[in-house]
This record gives sequence, structure tokens and C-alpha cells, in this order.
Amino acid sequence: MADVFNWQLGRDMQYPYQAERPARQIAWIFDTNKCIACQTCTVACKSTWTSGTGQEYMLWNNVETKPFGFFPTGWDVELLNLLGPAKWEGGVSTGNTVFESAPAGERVNGWLPTSEHWAHPNIGEDEPSGPVERGTYIDKLPHDTWFSYLARICNHCTYPACLAACPRQAIYKRPEDGIVLVDQERCRGYQECVAACPYKKVMFNNESRVSEKCIACFPKIEQGIQPQCVTSCIGRIRIASFISAPETVNPQSPIDFLVKVRKVALPLYPQAGTEPNVYYIPPIHAPREYLRQMFGPNVDEAVETYQQIAADDELLGLMMLFGSTERIMHSFAVKDGIATGYDEDGTELVSVPLREPTFIREYFDEVHNTYRQNIT
Ligand code: SF4
Ligand code: SF4
Repeated sequence: MADVFNWQLGRDMQYPYQAERPARQIAWIFDTNKCIACQTCTVACKSTWTSGTGQEYMLWNNVETKPFGFFPTGWDVELLNLLGPAKWEGGVSTGNTVFESAPAGERVNGWLPTSEHWAHPNIGEDEPSGPVERGTYIDKLPHDTWFSYLARICNHCTYPACLAACPRQAIYKRPEDGIVLVDQERCRGYQECVAACPYKKVMFNNESRVSEKCIACFPKIEQGIQPQCVTSCIGRIRIASFISAPETVNPQSPIDFLVKVRKVALPLYPQAGTEPNVYYIPPIHAPREYLRQMFGPNVDEAVETYQQIAADDELLGLMMLFGSTERIMHSFAVKDGIATGYDEDGTELVSVPLREPTFIREYFDEVHNTYRQNIT
């Protein structure tokens, strides 16, 4: 085991290989507050990558309803059972990661789902945290009874557990963009990766007898275009671009701005230790205790910053740019009520107003002798 620095844990940790950060790292931001669980992302991914034989059950992208939705069933409950409750002191994780808590002779502390675990992708969908009487009107925030949506893909982790566990070195992390891939020729189907991934984002193909996973739509990324799950998102909750190395902060980078400057986007279950590269803006009306377990100790600050967005033109402008272009946005700027996104060369991709103008119709249209509804 080597000592590597995991910035999300605030400390060094044990990992089977030396740290080799890629030249740049692809990363995503998902705003959970805007997701409507339409599953368009799920279908876009499925129809693009997993429509073949042996892939029927695979959803490289899935959207589950918390607290009772999971794919595979109970994946994060199992993870929390393996690791115990998250422990943080002054922003530093003091618990053991999936690598540090591995049983003797193994590299990762994991568990292997059965076919039954993979059989219910919609379990718990739209199920609230408790009973709601028929006709109940919920009139206060945060709600006592709640649910929220969690969109999930492979995190293309900096320290992938799947890669660490593979006895064949069949999983690799691309040095040019940090995308994690399974070499289908080298894989022998031992499923050590499936057991190891804390997020359960490697899946075994029973037909080809090898493991498969999200490939981050690398043919699109190589052409400067965001992945299918991002460009198809109806709720415009997603953005994909590159995150700087831990010691660097580029405030013009959309990912750096949200993760490192405003700190509204947080990693999912960072205590597992893989340094995931999908970052979530937490659901602001879910209970904080629940969110701290899920996104770490900085949840309160993230939620409070997000709640002030109307007074924060830079943050508001960047959020308005989500879903506004297919191209990868490398930088952005907000000026005079307009947010603009730029490509790698600094060429403008798109501009959007921070606030759309409002038009109020006369309630009664005398010319046509009819009533008009005001809609957005
Ligand atoms: S989320 Fe899982 S499959 Fe994806 S890179 Fe991390 S450990 Fe590997
Ligand atoms: S397409 Fe977007 S809004 Fe719809 S479920 Fe997926 S992440 Fe949520």
C-alpha cells in the first residue's frame, strides 16, 4: 500500500498504487434540487451504450429516490454498514476508507450484489420518508416528510476501488482526462471490481462474461462535447467539464467555482476514500443529518450558500448556463446581467440572461373576449 493524498478526506490515505493524477480530470456537477426524475438521462445512456445482449439489467446512469430508492438495492446502506458511521474532525475524515478497512489479504472492503439486488431499479421511487395522510397539505420547509432524487453515474474516481481490486490490471485510468475504463480484452470476469466499487457502478455482463461500466461518453469528450446524460438532461441539472488538481483553483472554471470557490457542490460518500469526481449540490430541504452522512461535513455551508443564490450573480449566472450548450464549457464570466460560457480556446459558446424578463397579461382580453392565464 502507498500513501496518497485525498483532498476530500483532508489527509493522506492508504491505496494499493502510487498517486498518479491525470493531466486533467473530467468531473460533473449535479444539482439535486432541479432533478425531476424524468429518467431521460437514464434512457439516453441506455439507448447509447447498453442496449446489447447481457446488458439488459444495466443502467450505467440511474436516478433513485432517497431515502428508499437504490440501484442495486441497498447499495449505500451496505456501504455504511461496512464502514460504520462517517467520522469527521475539523474537516478531516478520521474513519477508515474502503482501502484501509479491507480484510486481511484483500485490497478493498466490498460486497458483491446478487441478481436480486440488480432486479429492482425503481424500488422506492417517489416514496416519501414517512406516511402522508390523504389530503395533507405540507406548508413548511424543511418538510417533516420528504424525498429527493439522486442521479448517479460512475464517478471516474481519482483512486478507483474497481481499479485497485482488479487482479488482472484490466481497469485503467486514462492519463489525459481521468476517465476510468475496463479493458475488455484483459478482463476475465472475476467481478472483484463489482464487489469493490462502493457506488456499485461496475456491472457484469453475463453474456460476454466480462465487466462493463460507464465510459464517460469518451468519444464525445474527445471532441469537446459533454456526455449524453448531460446533454439530454431535461431539468438542466448537469454540467461536465474539468476540475483542477487539489492545490490549484481556477475561479473561471465552472467545476472549480462550484466545488472550490463557492463550495456548493460536494462529493457523494467521500468517506469511502475513492475521491469521486461527480459533485452534488445537496437537496436543500432534506434533513441535515441525512445529508451530512451522504455528502460530508460541509453540507450546512453548501446549503446556506445555495439558498443565497438570488443575491450572488456569479453563482446564479453559472447555474443558468447549465444545459445551455452541448460543448464542454472550460470557463465562464458574468457581467451586466449576462452569463457567458467559453470553450478551451476562450471562444464564446453561449450567453444567457441571469433574469428572464417578466410579462404580465391582462387577466381579461377584451379584444377576444376571453380570460388569459399568466404562465412562465
Ligand atoms: S465509481 Fe466505482 S466504477 Fe466508477 S471509478 Fe469509482 S470505483 Fe470505479
Ligand atoms: S434527465 Fe436530468 S432531470 Fe431528468 S432524471 Fe436525469 S438528471 Fe434528473
